[in-house]
Amino acid sequence: MAEPVPEYGRVEVCAEGVQRVVADNPGIMTYHGTNTYLVEAEGGTIVIDPGPDLPAHVDAIMAATGGRIGAILVSHGHGDHVGAANALREASDAPIHASPLPPVGSAVNADVSLENGGRIGDLIAVATPGHTRDHFCFMRPSDGIFFSGDHIMTWSSSIVSPTQGNMADYMQSLRETIARDDQVLLPAHGPVMQGPKTYCAALLDLRIRRENAILEALASGPKDLVGLVQRIYPHQTHEKSIWAAGQNLMAHMEKLLSDGRVVTDEDDAWRLVE
Ligand SMILES: [Zn+2]
Repeated sequence: MAEPVPEYGRVEVCAEGVQRVVADNPGIMTYHGTNTYLVEAEGGTIVIDPGPDLPAHVDAIMAATGGRIGAILVSHGHGDHVGAANALREASDAPIHASPLPPVGSAVNADVSLENGGRIGDLIAVATPGHTRDHFCFMRPSDGIFFSGDHIMTWSSSIVSPTQGNMADYMQSLRETIARDDQVLLPAHGPVMQGPKTYCAALLDLRIRRENAILEALASGPKDLVGLVQRIYPHQTHEKSIWAAGQNLMAHMEKLLSDGRVVTDEDDAWRLVE
């Protein structure tokens, strides 16, 4: 899905009691920028993903909420999501809720540890490891809104990098998301999506097809990372896209190794287990 470039710092309503302000950090990994969501709540606005470390973005969040913030929720430790967390806490005095796991990227000192199924106002934290091991989504059961962070983005599939993320976890988190029947998906990058079930199923299917394509490529003989990227992602030309493709591929290989489907040989190539 695509949407026009937003006016950075401008607040827009995207669901009942939910506003979005997009940070001015567009890029090949971030689309038009990080979506920060402002969710109305009794004890003060809940901010989901304060965004990158940009003073203008913090100012926009403070202006939109009048500084009355009840909680700052962090989906995961990537800098484009948590960079502004400390500055926003300083400005608003609101506590930061984040995964208790060591952060995968930027340092953030959580005041409250997120836990799977834990409640924050009307929202419930949902552990969704995969994109990163520390990833949480947030759902609002009253109307089926799912704040999906980078677990599911609507403009592109998500990157899964080994060490920070895990392909088997990602596929399992996708299965759980599909089973839950969310009505509206609000991602950290990309536009709002209604009825996301079919899309989520397609993302899982994409991973299954990639895995099958890898196994098929290895059927004709062992291959290293370069050989596999060329074979599986022949149309990627942008340097950063090729890097992302390589990361996803490494994550697939890590899963296939632990599934016992492939082994590595002395030339750092993978081959099928007979
Ligand atoms: Zn991320």
